[in-house]
Amino acid sequence: MVPKERIDKILDGYDLNNITIATLCSHSSLQIFHGARKMGFNTIGITISHDTKYYEAFPLGKPDEIIKYKDLDDMEANVDKLHDKNVVIIPHGSFVEYVGPKRFEDYEVPVYCNREVLRWESNRDMERQWLTSAGIMMPRAFTDAREINEPVMVKYHGAKGGRGYFIAKDYPDFKMSVDQSMPYSIQEYCLGTRYYLHFFYSPFKNTGYKLKRGGSLELLSIDRRDESNIDEMYKLGSIEDAKRHGLYPSFVVTGNTPAVLRESLLPKAFTIAENAVERSYELFNGMWGPFCLETVVTDKLEFKVFEISTRIVAGTNPFISGSPYADLIYPGLSTGGRIAMEIKESIKNGHLKDLMT
Ligand code: ATP
Repeated sequence: MVPKERIDKILDGYDLNNITIATLCSHSSLQIFHGARKMGFNTIGITISHDTKYYEAFPLGKPDEIIKYKDLDDMEANVDKLHDKNVVIIPHGSFVEYVGPKRFEDYEVPVYCNREVLRWESNRDMERQWLTSAGIMMPRAFTDAREINEPVMVKYHGAKGGRGYFIAKDYPDFKMSVDQSMPYSIQEYCLGTRYYLHFFYSPFKNTGYKLKRGGSLELLSIDRRDESNIDEMYKLGSIEDAKRHGLYPSFVVTGNTPAVLRESLLPKAFTIAENAVERSYELFNGMWGPFCLETVVTDKLEFKVFEISTRIVAGTNPFISGSPYADLIYPGLSTGGRIAMEIKESIKNGHLKDLMT
């Protein structure tokens, strides 16, 4: 992990009137660049293999400059050019996945997040420890497959975007589908409606929904993911029928649709997010900026949180020009815009170092 002192030293050399916001050309980059531009920042798109021609189709989301590296070693070795341009990185989900957690930890450019959070988020046991010790209800975990007595979700470690996950109804069903050569975890299949809640925690804002430790929590938007092929599986009859024809359900994200919660659920949603933030400061110096609680709401109106993403998620993309929630705080602002606003405020108030690791 890059020592915090090293990042602070890099920031000491920056021209704070000329900060550039950069991210990898994928995921939510259109929104990040659009938001950064709105707040007056320069923008850089970083790429190795990503196609960047699509930016031509969206001039307001196009970065001012694109830097194309040969490979990850090239990217890691050439950080000086980014320092010269006063670059801060906005890490999105694909950024960390693409460069890998180890390189991300060691990348010598200031990033807007607490890099320590990654360890807690990417290890399912540690994530569970964090959230359950914050009093948050998660799907029940099974340590022994022979104890499966209800529908469960089997998740291979390192599987991304739900690819390779499967549902089993009992132990024989599990045995039929499992690939024992890969590590996996088993959890209760939560039946209900999925909501992906996009929160933003500002440690410095002192108005709005205040936390005990200080700072303010915002709910900026909510989405539901479109997942292939599980979303349309019902059209073929039962999953068992489909399996007989060699068609197995998968949970690969292909897009996102906007959602809102019934209003009476908002207090619970805020309490869960608040507890996750408060506990993060007790465990590992905190989580700030955008994060997403991935939840199922049961017919008892209880939230079960099956995952937390501690950076901007692609589910915020339907809200580039605002959302039913953001519009009640900052009309027309996206999560990308909110990130840029936070960085701008922190520069003005001398807090930039506190947000960068
Ligand atoms: P990402 O990193 O993109 O969030 P992932 O690979 O970590 O994806 P999850 O988000 O854990 O995968 O799960 C993928 C999908 O599987 C979810 O969006 C949801 O539809 C479904 N899912 C996951 N866990 C459960 C559960 N316990 N009960 C019901 N459905 C679940």
